[in-house]
Amino acid sequence: MKTAVQGYPRIGARRELKLALEKYWNGKIDATALEKVASDIRKSNWQTLKPLDYVPVGDFSLYDKVLDTACMLGVIPERFRLAPLTNTADRHPLYLAMARGTTIAGNNIPALEMTKWFNTNYHYLVPEISSTQEYQLNAAELLAQVKEAQTFGIKNALPILIGPLTFLLLSHLDEGVSFADHLHRVTQAYAQLLANLSELGISWVQLDEPMLVSSQSEAYRDALRSCYEQLQATEINILVQTYFDHVGSHYSTLCELPIQAVGLDFVHGAENLEFVEKQGFPQDKTLFAGLVDGRNVFIADIPKIESQLKRLLNKIDADRLVASTSCSLLHVPITVAQESKMPDHVKSGIAFAAEKIRELQLIGNNALHRIQGDASKIDPAYEQLIKHRQEFLKHPDRHNNTVQERVDQFAPTARGSFADRDKSQKQHLHLPPLPTTTIGSFPQTKEVRSLRRRLRKGELGLEQYRAEIQKLIETWVRWQEEIGVDVLVHGEFERNDMVEYFGEQLDGFLFTQHGWIQSYGSRCYKAPIVYGDVHRNQPLTVRESVYAQSLTNKPVKGMLTGPVTILNWSFVRDDLGRNQVCKQIALAIRDEVLDLEKNGIRIIQVDEPALREGLPLQAEKHADYLDWAVTCFHWTVNGVQDATQVHTHMCYSYFNDIMPEIIKMDADVISIENARSSNELLQVFREVEYPNYIGPGVYDIHSPNIPTQEELAAQIQGILEVLPAERVWINPDCGLKTRKPEEVRPSITNMVKATMQVRTDIGATGS
Ligand code: GLN
Ligand code: ZN
Repeated sequence: MKTAVQGYPRIGARRELKLALEKYWNGKIDATALEKVASDIRKSNWQTLKPLDYVPVGDFSLYDKVLDTACMLGVIPERFRLAPLTNTADRHPLYLAMARGTTIAGNNIPALEMTKWFNTNYHYLVPEISSTQEYQLNAAELLAQVKEAQTFGIKNALPILIGPLTFLLLSHLDEGVSFADHLHRVTQAYAQLLANLSELGISWVQLDEPMLVSSQSEAYRDALRSCYEQLQATEINILVQTYFDHVGSHYSTLCELPIQAVGLDFVHGAENLEFVEKQGFPQDKTLFAGLVDGRNVFIADIPKIESQLKRLLNKIDADRLVASTSCSLLHVPITVAQESKMPDHVKSGIAFAAEKIRELQLIGNNALHRIQGDASKIDPAYEQLIKHRQEFLKHPDRHNNTVQERVDQFAPTARGSFADRDKSQKQHLHLPPLPTTTIGSFPQTKEVRSLRRRLRKGELGLEQYRAEIQKLIETWVRWQEEIGVDVLVHGEFERNDMVEYFGEQLDGFLFTQHGWIQSYGSRCYKAPIVYGDVHRNQPLTVRESVYAQSLTNKPVKGMLTGPVTILNWSFVRDDLGRNQVCKQIALAIRDEVLDLEKNGIRIIQVDEPALREGLPLQAEKHADYLDWAVTCFHWTVNGVQDATQVHTHMCYSYFNDIMPEIIKMDADVISIENARSSNELLQVFREVEYPNYIGPGVYDIHSPNIPTQEELAAQIQGILEVLPAERVWINPDCGLKTRKPEEVRPSITNMVKATMQVRTDIGATGS
């Protein structure tokens, strides 16, 4: 069976691209040196990809593929059409100005907006299309990559492009721009591009249309038809690729299009297999079957893939079936081979990008033999793959029987009504009206980070390290008391990251040394891997919270990351449902919640900033996800007494669609981003009443600006126009760890002063 992959990580095994980009920005290397690094990464990737039947080309990008496409089509907003950017043969200044913004003659030119790539943690730049946009193909960059691949010895290069429909749907269209007209013109440019590729001897091209999984809109269907009918005259074979979920009712349209192949995700869109079975698959097309999970890091489940193949083979001839990944491998790290600290029995159960390519090869060469019962022809390495997965799944390190038993038997109890809770909390907490607080973290300065580094290197003993952390806690607790904050925090100085810190201490999590994944441009992150049953063996945060509380009579809020956020920001084992894994994490955090309460912490905040981003792409799956996500929140917090106050925090303001679930979470207090998104949140509360306490952020922590007391007072007054004063808390938009102390101190001081001023203004000074 033939094999293909939908794209490969471009950051380099040791983040070479990131480092080169940063050097380029700092003027340490020139464009030629930067391009040399990029070219080396491409070649090293092709070396790995060479054995496949279709080798991706053009999936590489210096910064972002959507940005590349915009540049290729001449979609350059007016503000970038300035001499210093456009009158040079060097494309980099213009390209990177669009990515990162720039300053020309003292004028600040903002970058394109950046936003999440579907439900991944990758971010793309949003092209801007005005009504005067003319499309002008400039494919030099892409064609050069194709030639480079051919010179490198790649005969079967498959250029991977963002499809015209998805490109336009992802773009920001100015008012009055006719979608149909622009789609026609964009497609014209693509037709020319395909002709150029054909001249280079390219016979297949992949056009990614992931937008098809995000909406069942009729309009998409018509647009899809007109676009691909327009492209049918070209010489080249077209693969229309989808990923991240099933294509729903677009399946039949895809089957009818005048194209030569369709790509479907069978991992994250299992329904696709039913479409093939029920509706059949056209005789004149090839199916690129996304069988190897491109978004997770576990070794392939060969028996499962074989059973899917069997079902596909009932409808499609083997020579029209191509084994592929479920999506681009951009979303996984490069190779496990670099992980020297990972125990062997774990390593053999993990597959990053390079390992997935090997799996694909083995599947391509062996799956059909096994399906046909032709044992003699099977490569022992293929059998090994099956064995390794079994061994990995069975390994005692991953298992703790009591964990899943506890999940299965867990009988959640409800807390008292909000009214009852409110009453007992008032008796214990004695908070003034408009209580002030922060979201948890204080600045992670160089000094704080160096403490952790010195601990890691053994330059600092654990006791010394803890003593240093306590000093920081003390300094900041004293300061909060001094300026008059009502509910204090310890500052989260001991945490590197809000998920990693918890994962590192819980059983069932795995960490990598080099498992970097691109988030955008030069930005990379390492996601923890949930590889086994999750369990809390020891307190996670009690020491720091209790110490902070010991310093003051004011309440100190305990700070925890919620189970849904931990789940959504990790790679999650694929042998247990996500909902089950989330419940395991919920019970682990629950143990911590109860421990904090037992140790005298009267307010506990469970952050769920990633709750919304876990929403499945297909709307029909939303209710199920939200249902178990809310359940997990309840499991985490509902064991506490009515008198203990539960907070939660979220970092976005697009709330409308999940408002009923937010209400169902029933936290006593919720703090949410508000200022950054220009009080958009408040709009929602004009329509829907939030029954409990709420702290809409009063200033944007993403900017270094220090808000004045007057600005903050006005902001608070604005909030009080929408929400009743008895229900409002006063806090910033989010945690302050990325800010400098000299920004945080005056900002929070002003916030507290502004609150006092407003209390007086509205005659609400009593407690
Ligand atoms: N408690 C966390 C902090 O303050 C919350 C971070 C977040 O919402 N992303 O840093
Ligand atoms: Zn936040």
